[in-house]
Amino acid sequence: MATITRKIELYIDKSNLTDDEYKAQWQYIRQIDNTLFLAANRISSHCLLNDELEIRLKLQMPEYCEIEKSLRNSKKNKLSKEEISELKLRRKELDAVVKRQKEEFLKTSQNSTYQLVAYEFTNIPTEILTNLNNDIVGKYGKARLDIIKGIKSPSTYKKGIPIPFSVNKKSPFVFIDGDLEWFKGKTKETTGKILRFKLHFGKDKSNNRAIVERLVESAKLGKKKGEAYIVNNSSIQLVEKENTTKIFLLLSLDIPTTKRALDSNLVMGIDLGINYPIYYATNGNAYIKGHIGDRDSFLNERMVFQRRFRELQRLQCTQGGRGRLKKLAPLEKLREKERNWVRTKNHIFSREIIKCALKIGAGTIHLEKLKNIGKDKDGNIEDSKKYILRNWSYHELQEMIEYKAAMEGITVKYVNPAYTSQTCSCCGNRGERISQSVFKCLCPECSEYGKEVNADYNAARNIAKSEIFVKK
Ligand SMILES: [Zn+2]
Repeated sequence: MATITRKIELYIDKSNLTDDEYKAQWQYIRQIDNTLFLAANRISSHCLLNDELEIRLKLQMPEYCEIEKSLRNSKKNKLSKEEISELKLRRKELDAVVKRQKEEFLKTSQNSTYQLVAYEFTNIPTEILTNLNNDIVGKYGKARLDIIKGIKSPSTYKKGIPIPFSVNKKSPFVFIDGDLEWFKGKTKETTGKILRFKLHFGKDKSNNRAIVERLVESAKLGKKKGEAYIVNNSSIQLVEKENTTKIFLLLSLDIPTTKRALDSNLVMGIDLGINYPIYYATNGNAYIKGHIGDRDSFLNERMVFQRRFRELQRLQCTQGGRGRLKKLAPLEKLREKERNWVRTKNHIFSREIIKCALKIGAGTIHLEKLKNIGKDKDGNIEDSKKYILRNWSYHELQEMIEYKAAMEGITVKYVNPAYTSQTCSCCGNRGERISQSVFKCLCPECSEYGKEVNADYNAARNIAKSEIFVKK
């Protein structure tokens, strides 16, 4: 079982609406967006009030303060174990008294935060408020001890926070795409305002449509957890950009991890190559190795962009002055084009990597940690690491590898990139990268001693074998 998240653009479904109804729907969703963060802040500060109230009540109880003082000085006053446990027992009793006092004051025991916002924010559907309350109370709970100690402050929320909902009969949202209707039959259209959204997959490079299709399919078949696509608490979000408002579905779901014969001890190491965009090798059989992407075609494609950038910049220099903004537009367009090209390449590379891992049966993938990529301890760029993918969106590539691996039940780990290019992957001793593409081991006892080894291969194998893990 793995959890993945996807972002899918939404349009309000106009097909059965008059213009006025369409406007009203926009107003409705905007109104939720305009007030939801206020409710979030109210919940957050109310959580704090609950705790503060408890502290105040304890302070007003002399016996409680005495016990706390005695326990703090238990060593100095040489209290016995029995005395200490007796004091703690009494403190526990008093805690219960405080709790009763607090509830007496708040006139409620549970969900006091929910009741508070449900009373105040009547324009927000209860289903959304319930989810919001759970989220915020949960987040507060995690930071609670730090907040009481004064290390942290309670979170504050700004306009534009995601609007959480869960998939059940009360869901205020329906999502459709052509014949695909998600939640159909589950939602009672009579239970208040229902918003119908059209899913917009665009070019759909991440196969979002397939994922939603599988979700619908899973629900139809009534599959059990572990073998079905199941929606977790998801949300929709309004994003303001260049005077337009876009709506996105932030879909979080559990997906079954395919039970393939993957060996978690078999590791595939990924090296950003010098002679190939990507090179892979394993910690097992030395003959399992290969490259992804081709150096020449890759560099050629990149060169085309660089040439166009230079041309545009020259044009701007010579014709500077008036209408500069107008001339910036093509540059921006070209940047966008390049970004898309990068994204496409990353999709291809990550897909190929996962394909290879599945073919080999590797249950683990090792990647080099991003931060120090191509740099030595002092932050200088290592000569030996002049990657083809330099200045490349490696972060994006990592993320793609991560989620695609998760879908297949492959674990991704990050290793320290230090010395992966200078160590012999056969004996583990220091060697020498005598040229961009050739590595030589300097250890006379090594079976690879004196031989010319593919430098990318050597690095990839080191990465596969590395057990110096670093957090992402
Ligand atoms: Zn060696």
